[in-house]
Amino acid sequence: MADYIYTMEIRLTPDQQRGVTLVQDIARGAGMNVYLTGGAVRDIISGFSIRDLDFTVQGNPLRLQKELERAKAVVSASDDDLKTLYATLPGNVRAEISMARTERYEKAGKPPIISPATIIEDLRRRDFTVNAMALSLNPGSRGLLMDPFNGAADIEAKLIRVLHNYAFVEDPSRLIRATRFAARFHWPLEERTQARFDSARENNYIEYISDEAIGREIEQLAYEDDPLHILRTLEKENWLKVLHPRWSSARVDTAGLAQLLKTRQQMNELGYSPDPAPAVMYFLTGRLGDKDIAEMQKLIPRKDLVEAWRDLEDNAKSLAKRLTGKEAATPSRTWKLLSEVRPEMILFLAVTARQQAVLQKIKNFFTKWRQVQQKIPLPEMTELYITPQIPEYGKIANDVFMLLLDGKLRSRTETLKFLKPLAPPPPPPPPAPRRGRAAKAAAAAQAATAANPPAKRKGKEQATAHAAKPPAPVAPASKTAPIQKAAPAQRPVSQKPPPHPPKRKPMKPARQQSKKKKSR
Ligand code: ATP
Ligand code: MG
Repeated sequence: MADYIYTMEIRLTPDQQRGVTLVQDIARGAGMNVYLTGGAVRDIISGFSIRDLDFTVQGNPLRLQKELERAKAVVSASDDDLKTLYATLPGNVRAEISMARTERYEKAGKPPIISPATIIEDLRRRDFTVNAMALSLNPGSRGLLMDPFNGAADIEAKLIRVLHNYAFVEDPSRLIRATRFAARFHWPLEERTQARFDSARENNYIEYISDEAIGREIEQLAYEDDPLHILRTLEKENWLKVLHPRWSSARVDTAGLAQLLKTRQQMNELGYSPDPAPAVMYFLTGRLGDKDIAEMQKLIPRKDLVEAWRDLEDNAKSLAKRLTGKEAATPSRTWKLLSEVRPEMILFLAVTARQQAVLQKIKNFFTKWRQVQQKIPLPEMTELYITPQIPEYGKIANDVFMLLLDGKLRSRTETLKFLKPLAPPPPPPPPAPRRGRAAKAAAAAQAATAANPPAKRKGKEQATAHAAKPPAPVAPASKTAPIQKAAPAQRPVSQKPPPHPPKRKPMKPARQQSKKKKSR
């Protein structure tokens, strides 16, 4: 049996892994079999980045909503007909949880008749072979790959292949999906699939596309890594007009979109992971009228995406106002403010702000002020026993950083002068060395201790161990790491915790060090 659990675990981000465990446990608790399906499985195997998690349960997932919400997932929409939940799991992980189902198409353009089914039956109603695989998350078979159409071989061959001859007739939105996947992965349509595609286009099957499918396909553009490339490809194939009759690449704010994706990349490199989807939609429709945009928004299933998209301008305006007001009168206050707002808000404001003062503050937040963290004298703090082991460490490190930011500690001497009174009392001195018979007895005792170490160490040993530990991550040593926020009012959803500073060797006592310097 092929075991894909290891592949899954190394390919998912830690937040996605937690999301998989969460859904798996909740489904198990409700007595439902659960599978990872669709694009997540395809991307785990192919190595492309995993954008969202699609789960399929044998049973009704709407019954899981309460438990999911109790676990801090946000359910943004649910589809009673398809029995599907659209959720955002903790850590900004987008997920869709659907009931395993069969679909019977009786007439073109009419929605299919849905019935509950097994996972294998469910895989048969899917669009392409590479999307028709499932990975079991159930005890006993966890990690088993179900691949009835040999999608793994098509991933290997880099081909988009429909499951049967009626795929495009039954659901013409698959024409748009085929174009989108082909453009994203740069995989061609398999020969017979291409022939079916061409004939579906000739026969204008696309006019039977449902409004729900249009809404889903509009939304999907928001999550693409290169949305402009996909939009242009859809336009070339004449599908963009299907999504909205007045949409075209000329209606895209291309400069804004490019700037957005660049800033997002820079923020990612600094350890932030803002969700760009609402802003991507904003720029993709930048030159469309309000009425047209409202029509599109109405069709999108995830209402939280639509709300966030609608709120972008107002949120940016209010953040800009705060950044030019008293709340951001000093660098330290500005730092605090920007550390506490959602990274999505900074991302959008960084791209759209016109006021120099606002832009400068955001720039400083990402560059100059971050470098001030390097000035926190971590080695000296360790010597002073101001280490993560003491309860006040977080506050002290933060205070030093804030004072450094505001230029109130202008030199190392001033910083140490500030720190010294805050140092805790040093640990007790080591016991005096013993001589003669007593020393032998002590050595024997030490040997016995080594063989059977006590739970707690004492004296010098403890002090050395203490000094050898790396300082806490409150003041990140890395140039690029965001500083840990002191109890943020509203914690940024997707901000990575700052990394630990590099592990340091145990410090030599201060006196010895200065002697060494003199002798050099
Ligand atoms: P992405 O990386 O864009 O999320 P995806 O393949 O996961 O790609 P989704 O829109 O998230 O696409 O859909 C999840 C899965 O549901 C698909 O992989 C496919 O198995 C199935 N699916 C979605 N839309 C259709 C459709 N129109 N017809 C048949 N199956 C579909
Ligand atoms: Mg998906």
